[in-house]
Amino acid sequence: MAFEGLSEKITSAFKKLKSRGRLSEADVKSAMREIKLALLEADVNFKVVKDFTKTVTERATGAEILESLSPAQQVIKIVNEELTKLMGGSNAKINISPNPPTVVMMVGLQGAGKTTNGAKLAGLFKKQQQKRPLLVACDVYRPAAIDQLKVVGEKLDIPVFEMGQGDPVEIAKAGVDYAKKNAYDMVFLDTAGRLHIDEALMDELKNIKAEVQPSEIMLVVDAMTGQDAVNVATAFDDALGIDGILMAKMDGDARGGAALSTKAVTGKPIKFIGTGEKLADIEPFHPDRMASRILG
Ligand code: GDP
Repeated sequence: MAFEGLSEKITSAFKKLKSRGRLSEADVKSAMREIKLALLEADVNFKVVKDFTKTVTERATGAEILESLSPAQQVIKIVNEELTKLMGGSNAKINISPNPPTVVMMVGLQGAGKTTNGAKLAGLFKKQQQKRPLLVACDVYRPAAIDQLKVVGEKLDIPVFEMGQGDPVEIAKAGVDYAKKNAYDMVFLDTAGRLHIDEALMDELKNIKAEVQPSEIMLVVDAMTGQDAVNVATAFDDALGIDGILMAKMDGDARGGAALSTKAVTGKPIKFIGTGEKLADIEPFHPDRMASRILG
């Protein structure tokens, strides 16, 4: 799981602080230098690291902190609060439509984990919130994509609406109509991905968005690609507008830079994380819990 190296280095910086009793401004600054380095090594965006360390240093070198009874604990508390803030503060939820069905449009580059995680998400809502989800196969370019969606749908006992290799905009619209007629209260559109962001992909997604007006456009990115994932999020948000991010493959990412940078860079929250290949491997993203985990 992510953050192992980061966690270890931050814990070691804090250990030194704790051993000193009273703290000087220089002690705090030295610890912050170590934390800054650890964040950069974890592949956190440079500007994000700079802003973060500046804010923490300002807060942690104030007289009321340095002269308090447990200054090291206060510094740790500040780092925890600022890490939580960096990742979005509190858990951001999916937008649920007041007029069902809630349409969730899953978008992302090919291989990011869109199909699997769209299905995982549908499964989560079915299991935990007793929703009746429908999966809709809008990735018409790879016949294997439709089969893949059917396989995961079957495993989760969630029906899949498909029209073969037709027009993805028409399929999306027909899928939502089918959901309305058959009392499905959530629709997850599995849209096509490409190896790179291109105009044709964005145009197709914009057309689907205009036609079905989803409650939520959820971008799936691959945590293991680090800052590339952040760049992909920026590009999708600029071109299409996204509501939330599902950070897939957190289990395979030892560093954690993407998870720590995305909200600060794009302004869009990570709402869920994928934590493995199995269909149950998905969790809502809780910035506070993640910060506490990093701080060990
Ligand atoms: P798509 O092309 O974006 O639809 O990607 P897929 O859903 O087909 O996923 C690509 C690969 O990533 C598959 O082998 C998935 O099993 C794998 N995958 C997806 N999410 C996760 C995850 O959270 N953790 C791990 N380890 N693998 C994942």
